[in-house]
Amino acid sequence: MKRMMSFLLAGALALTGFAGVSATAQEGKLTVYASFYPMYDFATKVGGDRVTVVNMVPAGMEPHDWEPEAKDVIGLENADVFVYNGAGMEHWVDKVLATLSNQDLVVVDTSQGQTLLEGHSHDDDAQVADAAHEEDEAYDPHLWLGPLNAKAQMASIKQALVAADPENAAYYEANYAAQAAAFDALDADFRAALGALPNKTIVVSHQSFGYLCAAYGLVQESIEGLTPDSEPDPARMAEVIDFVKARGITTIFFEELVNPKIAETIAGATGAQTAVLSPLEGLTDVQAAAGGDYISVMRENLAALVKALQ
Ligand SMILES: [Zn+2]
Repeated sequence: MKRMMSFLLAGALALTGFAGVSATAQEGKLTVYASFYPMYDFATKVGGDRVTVVNMVPAGMEPHDWEPEAKDVIGLENADVFVYNGAGMEHWVDKVLATLSNQDLVVVDTSQGQTLLEGHSHDDDAQVADAAHEEDEAYDPHLWLGPLNAKAQMASIKQALVAADPENAAYYEANYAAQAAAFDALDADFRAALGALPNKTIVVSHQSFGYLCAAYGLVQESIEGLTPDSEPDPARMAEVIDFVKARGITTIFFEELVNPKIAETIAGATGAQTAVLSPLEGLTDVQAAAGGDYISVMRENLAALVKALQ
């Protein structure tokens, strides 16, 4: 029996050694897969030099319609942790996770435990809306745009890193504590700056600022629905133009990863100007090269909101 045990142990060690051939395992770092940019940024901040984080959606690409390729699935098979937003943002996630044979993968749905906003899309009345699409939009997935929601997402990620790598628990806890303070400061600055402004209504491209608006008493009028893939029809364009004129809205916000043509058309018809309000669904190559991150882009968003709502 003892012989058998040691034989099995030797076999297990040999297997472990075999798995250790991969570069990341040799460095002793966790491999973390993140479903798109904010998840990547939060995991990077908490994981520091003890993790290798892979952002599954390349810079400059919009994540709503993105789907994993074979290489991404292979990556997940070899990853230690997978972090995703949840609440319908990653429509591919259940299907892909069901195919994985990676039994040790720690999976984090960062929307768990959060109070979700219901998804109200302008497409709700569309007769052609397919069932899968409707299911995706039962909730507003854009949690990360509320700084305190984002902080809670980061806390979920921290817990997952601790679960996957308990030896480094104190390190992850310390990184999280530093980040949590930065998120609290961001929240306080949003609260102070936006609370003092006379105007509260923002006109935005797609309906992504629900959590931000709920936190700071703003109201969003979105040209498109919960995803940026729906071109507004002429009737919707006319409605928005009337809305902008009636309210004296000065700024039509657009997104850095989406063509600004529609925002420019509405601005042209109303005398408003256009400006970027980032839904942080990804960084552009320029933002990434300049060392931008969640906090820096949110501070640019705050400056843009203050300018527009004065
Ligand atoms: Zn979105």
